[in-house]
Amino acid sequence: MRKIDLTNFQVATSETARHINRRIALSIIRRHQPMSRADLARRSGLQRSTVSAIIGQLIDEGWVTEGASPVSGRGRRPRLLHLNVERAGILAVDLRPVTTRVALAGLDARFLMQTAWPTPGTPEEFASEVARTVAAFRKTDPGTVYEGMGVSLPGRVDSAGRLVFAPNLHWRPVDLKQLLESSVGLPVVLENAACACALAELWFGRQPDDVRHLVAVTVSEGIGVGMLLNGQLIHGSDAMAGEFGHVTLDEDGPPCSCGKRGCWEQYASNSAAVRYYQGLLGGAAAPAEPSASAATLKFTDILRLADDGDAYAIETLERMARYLGIGIAPLVTGLAPQVVVVIGEITAAWDLVGPIVLDVVKRRTLSSNTTQIVPTDLATQPRLRGAVTLVVQQHFGAPNVA
Ligand SMILES: [Zn+2]
Repeated sequence: MRKIDLTNFQVATSETARHINRRIALSIIRRHQPMSRADLARRSGLQRSTVSAIIGQLIDEGWVTEGASPVSGRGRRPRLLHLNVERAGILAVDLRPVTTRVALAGLDARFLMQTAWPTPGTPEEFASEVARTVAAFRKTDPGTVYEGMGVSLPGRVDSAGRLVFAPNLHWRPVDLKQLLESSVGLPVVLENAACACALAELWFGRQPDDVRHLVAVTVSEGIGVGMLLNGQLIHGSDAMAGEFGHVTLDEDGPPCSCGKRGCWEQYASNSAAVRYYQGLLGGAAAPAEPSASAATLKFTDILRLADDGDAYAIETLERMARYLGIGIAPLVTGLAPQVVVVIGEITAAWDLVGPIVLDVVKRRTLSSNTTQIVPTDLATQPRLRGAVTLVVQQHFGAPNVA
């Protein structure tokens, strides 16, 4: 028999109910604004008096504004409710092994300021650099109220905020949440970049409302996978679910930063592409060891070279696309998502890469498969937008309510 764990048990108080109703009201306004109080009561199923109390509080706190309404045919004109997107400044951090980007955004994930710097070698230096950036933002715009900070990172963080697995970052396990919160003085939410991107697709992406099963694949220095199934992010034991980048394709393949050989990301990541291209230049068809001088040539150089018609660069991207398909196919068959979104610089070459990915997936999956595989628009800065979503979702009920 399953027992209820009484040490970790919360009774629903009237305070809990108020909190939930408030989040639902905010979500409905976010989705249907501008809207009247009557419309909010109708859509939420809440009593008019409850709606009035919640709206009074949300207006007092600056989350919602009540503005002039369009002219209606006759009768009293209702004043319409809007979400005050400038109410809260959300700090978003996209931590990557080479570069970290920090931005300030509104509730609508539009970026107001941003900057980037080389990622330091230790978590302590990183936290100090983040704190310096936040101080500079505050100086530029002292009027903004900072609501919190979201960090999307190339690894896995346990429920306590401890960085437990980040082989491409080469940092020791560390309580990154506590370190950042004490440096910045704000609540911090950490999440794997692919998981954050999966959430952002639901909140700010162009997916249809009925999407509840979505897989995000971030292709960068490594490969990350975020799984949103039944509308929930899947974290698994020790928060390690989604490490498909380290699924072995060939036990005798190139060594990986995780200590094994032949992981998927050793064939389909940006770093793998750079090594392969360098191998072609050096006359070797096989990819070189990861220690090759990857610093001199960047993945974006290969994209540019391919665009200019460089045969080796095109061959490199075509190979990368095949391996992306090889890794995405089992995700499609095994998880049956409605959509797989691909995130990363590679999406800039989707005209070349996309058809190869789709062809490989089609050949390797069930013929009944209907999963869409789509690139995410780089212009939306998906990893940063993911970091914004980590904070935004704490204040709202769900992305697509009522
Ligand atoms: Zn690996």
